[in-house]
Amino acid sequence: MSDSTEFGDGTRAVRAGLPEPVKHEPSLPGPVFAAHYHLPGDPTGPYTYGRDENPTWTLLERAIGELEAPGQDGAETLVFSSGMAAVSAVLFSQLRAGDVAVLPNDGYQALPLVREQLEAYGIEVRTAPTADNAQLDVLDGAKLLWIETPSNPGLDVCDIRRLTEAAHARGCRVAVDNTLATPLGQRPLELGADFSVASGTKQLTGHGDLLLGYVVTLDATLMTAVQRWRKITGAIPGPMEAWLAHRSLATLHLRADRQSANALAVAEALNGRPEVTGLRHPGLPGDPAHKIASQQMRRYGCVVSFSLPTRAHADLFLDALRLVDGATSFGGVRSTAERRGRWGGDAVPEGFIRFSAGAEDTDDLVADVLRALDESAR
Ligand code: PLP
Repeated sequence: MSDSTEFGDGTRAVRAGLPEPVKHEPSLPGPVFAAHYHLPGDPTGPYTYGRDENPTWTLLERAIGELEAPGQDGAETLVFSSGMAAVSAVLFSQLRAGDVAVLPNDGYQALPLVREQLEAYGIEVRTAPTADNAQLDVLDGAKLLWIETPSNPGLDVCDIRRLTEAAHARGCRVAVDNTLATPLGQRPLELGADFSVASGTKQLTGHGDLLLGYVVTLDATLMTAVQRWRKITGAIPGPMEAWLAHRSLATLHLRADRQSANALAVAEALNGRPEVTGLRHPGLPGDPAHKIASQQMRRYGCVVSFSLPTRAHADLFLDALRLVDGATSFGGVRSTAERRGRWGGDAVPEGFIRFSAGAEDTDDLVADVLRALDESAR
């Protein structure tokens, strides 16, 4: 499928990474559980030791590469044990003491921890907001620009192509965290980025039953260092997780379509409610991020963020929801929501809610949200 740019997202998703059909074999071979492989004589690949290679990863890596970089035969993908393993692999394999890295100051809440660690290794870290392409202002002298768009949880969007052109003009590499968008929502490598990195724990796999991460690049030289990092840290996914992830990719287009439609419907229902402030969803025509999102995204993702007036109001709302589980994370087929301030890491109001739209029937989900809002306002 790697040369099949003529196919649509759904066709590519259901076939992504599948091997050539073999009579009497399943279309997606089962997970290969192996710590080592038969390896008499000289140790030649492709499969030598279970921390370095696994046939189940190979198929999944091919599938993710086909979705992130369709038609690009040179795309290289590596899967990891979690999104953070993938994020760390890129940052820590590409940067050395004395280098400068630019991170968003409104990205995933583990980034400040990563920042501390980078600084402990002598790497200078600068941060700027995602909105208004503010990272442009701190690029001079940087070795690596880290972009998270849409940002989690604030849902700001920056212009990947513009930032990438500015970074490349300064000899700076660019990595984009593509977790929220998924490869069906946006393809950072086509917009010029050097790396697309993501947590596959979220919508990519979509069932809330596994952790996974991945890195994709078109530059084999860059990937050599990332692969070395995976080897020395051993941050590898289990074969069962890799297989489940691959199986789940077949429905990514269905889930992404339904979930982004549901997110937009929920956002539209919240829009104009007097108790709701700070409503954000990149698909809302009036959203500050909509213009640039509509230019670089093909689906707007399943997350909606907004605030209710107080912490107590937000808690009442969350308790009143029947079809939405209280949980952290996002992207699953069952809607989830949480009061983000309960973790203390994000600079958000006490009543700030991150809502992840699942694959429920749209009318049911919207009715549940509106009923819970009414109940929490009493
Ligand atoms: N990147 C983003 C944008 C995330 O939201 C998350 C997790 O929420 C991660 C990376 C880390 O992923 P994981 O939890 O799979 O390590």
